Amino acid sequence: AFNFCAGPATLPEAVLKQAETELLDWRGTGMSVMEMSHRSDEFVSIAETAEKDLRELAGISDDYAVLFMQGGASSQFATIPLNLLGENAEADYVSTGIWSKKAIAEAKRFGNVNVAASSEDSGFTTIPDQSSWATNPDAAYLHYTPNETIGGLEYDFVPESGAVPLVADMSSTILSRPLDVSKYGLIYAGAQKNIGPSGLVVVIVRKDLLGKARKETPTMMNYQVIADNGSMYNTPATYSWYLAGLVFKWLKEQGGLQAMGEMNARKASKLYGFIDDNDFYANPIDPRFRSWMNVPFTLADDALNGEFLQGANARGLLNLAGHRSVGGMRASLYNAMPEAGVDALIEYMTEFAKERG
Ligand code: PLP
Repeated sequence: AFNFCAGPATLPEAVLKQAETELLDWRGTGMSVMEMSHRSDEFVSIAETAEKDLRELAGISDDYAVLFMQGGASSQFATIPLNLLGENAEADYVSTGIWSKKAIAEAKRFGNVNVAASSEDSGFTTIPDQSSWATNPDAAYLHYTPNETIGGLEYDFVPESGAVPLVADMSSTILSRPLDVSKYGLIYAGAQKNIGPSGLVVVIVRKDLLGKARKETPTMMNYQVIADNGSMYNTPATYSWYLAGLVFKWLKEQGGLQAMGEMNARKASKLYGFIDDNDFYANPIDPRFRSWMNVPFTLADDALNGEFLQGANARGLLNLAGHRSVGGMRASLYNAMPEAGVDALIEYMTEFAKERG
């Protein structure tokens, strides 16, 4: 089967097999990773190796702390303003879809938010040109969402933010291609797409941004506390951290982010090319900003959606229904989706359009 779910998403089969082999007895310790003390030498080596591999993969320098936190990306919508916004400052946000709107709504609970640009008028089908953004040069940070998972809208550029720290919700695009971490103040990503199990959230934060949390910030949300304690202020999500480590190793074996980027570009352009060439299917997004990771598409007749999904399921093409808020279909093509999955989907779509178009 090929699982096109937007998240939790398909994981590399080799990773799941290794986890299965090690499930009951991790490397002769007689324990599952799930049963280990997070303070044990064994788990500390698993945790440190995962961080080291992620640093190597994404080229993360010592100027940045890497935090393995909990509560998913959504908890970061509050954690970020609590840590970075300060008492009377303002933060800039760019609104490009459902996830950036959620981040904005949460930040507004903690201070002044300036929506510097929005593509809501277009139905979130494009990214406003940066020359039109009304940013505040004194903002505490500039937040954007590089890939809108639901809309299937993705930046093809990194915004310029000058001296203002750039903050990115990379939940659905992290590790999908080469990444220049030095352009960012903070990157965060819920793990359940390109990293591992849900609940875990990886935060990469420039160290000079630590130690600025408001005094009422809950301890568990204070980046400085989490960094000082090696993400072990409390009991971390040990098994998720371990699985993330297996995914990082797998990514290195695949040739790293350069190789991933090439494969992901190929998969996406194949599917978009097919959709554009076939009158039965359509994708509404400005071609320049089409997501490599999440490809939404509609059928010529919505009444056929149920039948399309049923037929897909019967072939092992799973979870192609679009998000409940937008309908239609969505094929998520994260790192672990092999090119063969895209080929199988296109074959099915071709047949379906012939029969029912
Ligand atoms: N941000 C983006 C871009 C997402 O795609 C998601 C989830 O799919 C989230 C945030 C929320 O993540 P979580 O469910 O881990 O809170």
